[in-house]
Amino acid sequence: MHPRQILDRYGIAPKQSLGQNFLYDEGLLARIAAAAELSPADAVLEIGPGLGALTRQLAQAAGRVVAVELDDRLLPVLRYELEPFANVEIVHGDILSFDPASRFDGPFVVVANVPYYITGAILRRLLEGWPRPRRMVMTVQREVADRLAAKPPHMSLLAVSVQYYGRVKLIGTVKAGAFWPRPEVDSAVIRIDVDAKHLERRESTDFTDDTDWRASSSVKSVKSVDSSASEAAYFRVVRAGFSEKRKQLKNNLRQLGLGDEAIAAALEESGIDGRRRAETLSVGEWETLAASLRL
Ligand code: SAM
Repeated sequence: MHPRQILDRYGIAPKQSLGQNFLYDEGLLARIAAAAELSPADAVLEIGPGLGALTRQLAQAAGRVVAVELDDRLLPVLRYELEPFANVEIVHGDILSFDPASRFDGPFVVVANVPYYITGAILRRLLEGWPRPRRMVMTVQREVADRLAAKPPHMSLLAVSVQYYGRVKLIGTVKAGAFWPRPEVDSAVIRIDVDAKHLERRESTDFTDDTDWRASSSVKSVKSVDSSASEAAYFRVVRAGFSEKRKQLKNNLRQLGLGDEAIAAALEESGIDGRRRAETLSVGEWETLAASLRL
């Protein structure tokens, strides 16, 4: 059924402030669910189930689906639409306050057609939290998808932050007309496969508060005492490296307070030319540089 018909039945209008643009092409929804490669052994976190169209597909493929929806007006719709699926748990709440440990005891899979204004904040919260997603399939703004999947020399703080955790792949694009109401921009489906090494132990990160990575200032960084030293060092170095857009790397790294000689030595040890700009470095180069700086 068309989303408009469902909403009319409940006397609800879509809220633009909550990014409510609903996907309704069953074929497209099936392709998004298929990109997550779910099996009955999987536990899924769906962010913003809306009217439950994607949730139904997920419920048929996964063992368990936890669907977190902020808009209380949609809860009766979700309860009705998902009633046949005993493996779906509907949670009323804000994903930015959701604690994965309250529902998952190990790595889970995220599938979401997310409100665009909180894409960065969602990525940050889930990737820095524990337990972590081992895979994320997200429908995001096309431009954000391109930034997430960027390669040198087009990296950004967002790209090096997300790609630190895993591989980002562009699955496909979605035209604005596939949504109702129709958004102003096209979208794309991306998949992030988190590296096994980041799923092994409990870690948390002192992330940057740069707006490039934080799409929402309402999110607080969740720090944990057992934060991995190499992870913390990585984020200190990339934060310094990207601190001023047009400056060369060696100048931006002064922010670390180490002195020019130490910085030059670390750059030489890493085989990185200090005149380069931050956008040209790969995640591997940042990791090597962070190790050489011995923070
Ligand atoms: N999954 C549905 C689909 O694909 O048609 C709806 C997607 S719609 C783009 C985004 C959904 O996220 C809406 O249902 C909206 O109410 C919900 N939402 C917005 N902000 C949220 C938040 N902070 N936490 C949880 N859900 C949120």
